[in-house]
Amino acid sequence: MFLCLNYLFVHPNNQGDDWFGFLMAAIYITLVLLIGRAVLARSQELRNSMESLVKSEQKLIVEKAISDKLIKIDALTGLYNHKTFHEYLENLILHCETNGVSLHLALIDIDNFKKVNDTYGHWVGDIVLKDAAACITDLLNPNNFAARYGGEEFAIIFTDTTAEEAAEQAEQIRQRIESMPISHMREQPVTVSIGLCTYQPGNGKELLFRNTDNALYTAKRAGKNRVVCHKPAE
Ligand code: GH3
Ligand code: MG
Ligand code: MG
Repeated sequence: MFLCLNYLFVHPNNQGDDWFGFLMAAIYITLVLLIGRAVLARSQELRNSMESLVKSEQKLIVEKAISDKLIKIDALTGLYNHKTFHEYLENLILHCETNGVSLHLALIDIDNFKKVNDTYGHWVGDIVLKDAAACITDLLNPNNFAARYGGEEFAIIFTDTTAEEAAEQAEQIRQRIESMPISHMREQPVTVSIGLCTYQPGNGKELLFRNTDNALYTAKRAGKNRVVCHKPAE
């Protein structure tokens, strides 16, 4: 390149060699331009393939997030499913044992749900499940974890809160569900019974469940539509 420019500009009057100089310069310039164009085209190709690589990687990340979510979430209610709930509870119990964080478990069971299905149809039962789950989600704060535990049963883990506050939140959920309007049920209220228990370090998951389930059973026997808290033995 330097030689070409030298021929063109430094020796402009060197008549004898002019034709050769110009020819060489033209060849050099053409070559440089062609190489430059090839380099540009190649770098554009590389940029395009990098972009499509990044895009397909992003697509994979999104697809994985969606499939992860589908594995963890109950399709009807959008709450966490039974399996994820147990995994999470086990981790939290471990955390509670080592760091002494507070942990409370609530089991929520819709009252007379079979009658809802029998009277208004299974599809209305599904609407009730969805709406009850929405009430629960609406009232929870980020420290709580809600799941669809079984058919018409939900479970909530309260963390980093006192037993009184957990009981208050459970009562709010009960009231919210009782007052939710279900047009397909001719405004008949849906009620829930709730059992609540505070985790005592050393008790383990099984005993926590048994105590919470007993509290729920007591709520049912006492006439349903209420919150019962498990009282630890003195
Ligand atoms: P209790 O007040 O004692 O809890 O009575 P219940 O009728 O709510 O309880 P029971 O266990 O007798 O009936 C639960 C019903 O929930 C029976 C089952 O068909 C219904 N169920 C379970 N899963 C679903 C579901 O996904 N959708 C609908 N629509 N119904 C369901
Ligand atoms: Mg039940
Ligand atoms: Mg029930």
